[in-house]
Amino acid sequence: MDQRLPALLDMWQKTFHWQPSEQQVAQFDQLYQAIVKGNKQQNLTRITEPQEFWEKHLWDSLLGVAPLLFPEMLIAELTENALVQKNLKLIDIGTGAGFPSLPIAIANPEWSITMVDSTKKKINFALKTSNQLQLQNIRGLVARAEDLGKQKIYREQYDLALIRAVGQPSVCAEYILPFVKVGGFAILYRGHWQDSDTTDLATALELLGSSLQHIQQTKTPLSDSVRHCLYLYKHSATSKQFPRSVGVPNQHPL
Ligand code: SAH
Repeated sequence: MDQRLPALLDMWQKTFHWQPSEQQVAQFDQLYQAIVKGNKQQNLTRITEPQEFWEKHLWDSLLGVAPLLFPEMLIAELTENALVQKNLKLIDIGTGAGFPSLPIAIANPEWSITMVDSTKKKINFALKTSNQLQLQNIRGLVARAEDLGKQKIYREQYDLALIRAVGQPSVCAEYILPFVKVGGFAILYRGHWQDSDTTDLATALELLGSSLQHIQQTKTPLSDSVRHCLYLYKHSATSKQFPRSVGVPNQHPL
């Protein structure tokens, strides 16, 4: 029996002061159905129960960009910078089946989004799904972050770079900060976070031309799990040494 995704309009309201349109609610459900179906052909996610999918894939994907998407979620530290404009350019490294990109593209069709993953099958799935949902302004690239981040047409071209569930914090920072324009932000989606993690990340940020501007701590609305979103401000161009060659960031984290 096919299960439908609950709309949970009260939860969107309570957490983000936001109401998705009917079309957006339908697209969220279509995305859910595509994942359930795709999971039968390839291993995309272990999260397929409808409420859990809503929370861990939809709600969680929007959480990182909520301060920029939803007016009532504004964070003062972030708005001082040039992110209040409408047509932001985003890149999502290690998007897997399309998270956080696809929910963000549904919530805001005005942003242009590039999904990147080293696994071709995953990008194919994410692109096929974005076509089915008739999402505009979204594309996908099969590549390693370490290669793409060195290419002129991608390096320092994005207002925002996102990364969720790809690796340890300093590895994620080395993957994504080369893509961010000076004056833009990288957003790390994390679960638990403690002060020692901030200390551990400091060296990497300094080397990459960035500083930690803000940490937003939140609990998820259904299962009360902890989430931290880290907003890394890119104040200077990243040195040409970074990212290092494929595999090195992960083997020898900064
Ligand atoms: N962001 C998604 C998927 C996380 S799984 C989510 O939150 O659900 C991690 C993904 O990162 C995998 O699909 C893997 O192929 C990809 N990945 C890992 N290292 C990478 C690298 N260096 N460059 C590009 N993609 C990478």
